[in-house]
Amino acid sequence: MKRKSFLTAAIATAVMMTTLVPAAFAETGTPSVAPAAQKSVDAQTAASNALQAQAAKYGFKSDLSDLQYVSTVNTLGGTVVRYQQTVNGAELFTHQVTVTLDNAGQALLIASDYVPNLTAQPVSKKIGENAAEQKALAALNATDAPSAMNSRVFGYIFENGQAVPAYKVVTHSGESEVESFVHAENGKVLKKRDLHQHVNGTGKVFNPNPVRTQGNATGLTDNNNKDSTALTNQLKSVTLQGLDGSGYLKGQYVNITSKVNTYSSTNTFNYTRSSGSFEDVMAYYHIDTVQRYIQSLGFLNINNRAISVKPNGTTQDNSWYSPSTKDLTFGTGGVDDAEDAGIIAHEYGHSIQDNQVPGFGATEEGGAMGEGFGDFMGATYEDALVPNTAFKALIGEWDATSYSSSTPPTLRRLDTSKKYPTNMDGEVHDDGEIWSHGEYDMAQAFGRDVATKIILQSHFSLTPNSGFKDGVAAIKAADQALYGGSHLSQITSIWAARGL
Ligand SMILES: [Zn+2]
Repeated sequence: MKRKSFLTAAIATAVMMTTLVPAAFAETGTPSVAPAAQKSVDAQTAASNALQAQAAKYGFKSDLSDLQYVSTVNTLGGTVVRYQQTVNGAELFTHQVTVTLDNAGQALLIASDYVPNLTAQPVSKKIGENAAEQKALAALNATDAPSAMNSRVFGYIFENGQAVPAYKVVTHSGESEVESFVHAENGKVLKKRDLHQHVNGTGKVFNPNPVRTQGNATGLTDNNNKDSTALTNQLKSVTLQGLDGSGYLKGQYVNITSKVNTYSSTNTFNYTRSSGSFEDVMAYYHIDTVQRYIQSLGFLNINNRAISVKPNGTTQDNSWYSPSTKDLTFGTGGVDDAEDAGIIAHEYGHSIQDNQVPGFGATEEGGAMGEGFGDFMGATYEDALVPNTAFKALIGEWDATSYSSSTPPTLRRLDTSKKYPTNMDGEVHDDGEIWSHGEYDMAQAFGRDVATKIILQSHFSLTPNSGFKDGVAAIKAADQALYGGSHLSQITSIWAARGL
């Protein structure tokens, strides 16, 4: 019988730290040799002369007193001298002027963001840099504390025809880097911008799988990964969010690394299931969607990273999460595992749990809780996409067509009669059916969102050796913390039915 095994030979490893690139500062073209330095001074003089000659046209002050020299950059086609507009000696954020000189030192071009005749709002009492940083973090709903990586600079922004005193705050949180402008007196966040540019792409996927969307498994067979009209008919067009714009399937929450190295210069990823790129698109879309769902519940610190995924990384009919490398591998045996969103969400569930409790699953019961939680994630994701009671308590119906004789086919069920401890057999997937049943019942009773929220919250309290009873205690505590214990009586009876 098929197992989606979790690599349990985990060596406890430190949580992967994300290396963040510091915000880029204004480029400096510091020349390294004396003659170039001489040329730089000459260039600055030539540029300054050019600005004064054109002052009336651009509205510069005749003495250029509010243009602060920034840099001189020598390029193949001449020299570029850059200036920053200032207000009362502080930066007018983003407003600059460049003078391009040809190789003979003649001014070729002036490019200007300069705002002439600028009036500045007076500043009577500034809030501090720390207060500005707190305001910026609060506006982002960031759970992170102020960080040494964050930067705060006082200056002005040009808004509604005048210079408004503000702090420019750049915050780093997980993978994100955001620039916010905070009013220097009243602390209001005037505007903010994600410094990591993301683009949306489009692609075709099974959503969640062709058996669910067709309504049954009739005529749907793997046939050695070949296309068929019936399967192609089940493709759905979706938006692929958070791509980095490189043309590869790399983005905020997922980095696909595959042999086929799927690429599109227009971020358009329309393939049929016989293409190796199809599984790349499936893995990208569904993992990104599940992570966005977790964040929509209010959790910004659960596996909030770009996870590496190898969609056709093994020829086995198996898939796994590696706690040492923190990445996911999906197999091509039978139906390709990454052709079924239930299987993808199950595996991502393992990475979620390892992220919340590094080293989780050190005991057999913990391993079973991991499998059960993965099945809960997969089944409830599928249910949310296709709420058809014919598929209640099932997972991976398309993947299962290559090994299941049930109708509809299923990897496992989330409603078996198994109880703790009577029906434990020591195999994590089997025993996981006890755990998944309890969690799935919570979703039936409270809805997917509330159940997922309680369950995810409960994971934070667990230890690597936690077992079923610890898990139930943590679920009850999580309901107390999130909902004042309002689901407690139902939670108690749901788990009592499982012997817990
Ligand atoms: Zn598993």
